[in-house]
Amino acid sequence: MNQFSYMRVTSKESAIAALAKDKAAMFLAGGTNLVDLMKSGVTSPERLVDINNVPLATIEETKTGLRIGALAKNTAVAENALVIKHFPLLSQALKAGASPQLRNMATVGGNMMQRTRCHYFYDSALPCNKRSPGSGCGAIGGFTRMHAIFGASDKCIAVHPSDMCVALTALDAVITVTGPKGERKIPFGDFHRLPGDTPEQDNNLQRGELIIAVDIPFNQLAAHTHYLKVRDRASYAFALVSVGAAMQIRGGNIADVRLAMGGVAHKPWRLKEAEAWLKEKSATEENFRKAASMAMANAKSQGGNAFKLTLAPNTIVEALKTAAAQA
Ligand code: SF4
Repeated sequence: MNQFSYMRVTSKESAIAALAKDKAAMFLAGGTNLVDLMKSGVTSPERLVDINNVPLATIEETKTGLRIGALAKNTAVAENALVIKHFPLLSQALKAGASPQLRNMATVGGNMMQRTRCHYFYDSALPCNKRSPGSGCGAIGGFTRMHAIFGASDKCIAVHPSDMCVALTALDAVITVTGPKGERKIPFGDFHRLPGDTPEQDNNLQRGELIIAVDIPFNQLAAHTHYLKVRDRASYAFALVSVGAAMQIRGGNIADVRLAMGGVAHKPWRLKEAEAWLKEKSATEENFRKAASMAMANAKSQGGNAFKLTLAPNTIVEALKTAAAQA
């Protein structure tokens, strides 16, 4: 690991000023991914600006929904009574992610900023356009079991690893960030990027900006939700495929529905066409299968992940069935 300096800040303003002053500085929150990236030489900041003492960890009800501070720990969010009552999908997704120890350290903002777990990305002896732009992609034509079936490019086929972000995408959350040019809001679905020609850019946060909160608008979807994560081992593994499903069912018909997938693309993958088709249809397995097949229209195998072409639609159907069956 490279030598680096360390400083603590206690306000948003001092955090932003510290990053503006030093181009080789990075924010440190829970550190559950950043420290690994530093140890493996993928990231080498010269200064860490510890933001853990900035007061951004509250979870509060607003007139229109819940506001979750960017430094709220994943465990605190997953176990918060308001989150469980209004947005059980978020609680389920968080509990499906990482291990209890990691969830105790990891923050909401850090979870959003975590980087892909593509093995080639973490091995500096191998080419990787995300780590070293222009060096090539070691995964293409290599070991692709964990890689994308949607939205990949010829520069990068990695997937985003977060479970929490799948739920927040489905729930139409909105992110507030602040920086040298002031505050701005980013719809959750627009935060993470597809790889295109610039896979080194995971998201649309500008240099020097700090995530301060995530707002989730109230909805009528809490009664029928399920987060289904398929992974190689139940205790601690990233998703091969995951599905967040939430529905409002009236008289056996689907009044509203949200669907998003993880483990399949460079960003949480929202299934808007399938959602639109399901609205006002009856909540039957036959309709869930049709929606799943619609969602898979543009899926493409990378070879080693061909099994996802079958696993993904089956996971969508199971998530919808389980959500619909809830009392
Ligand atoms: Fe790097 Fe992306 Fe290729 Fe993985 S898939 S080696 S992260 S460029």
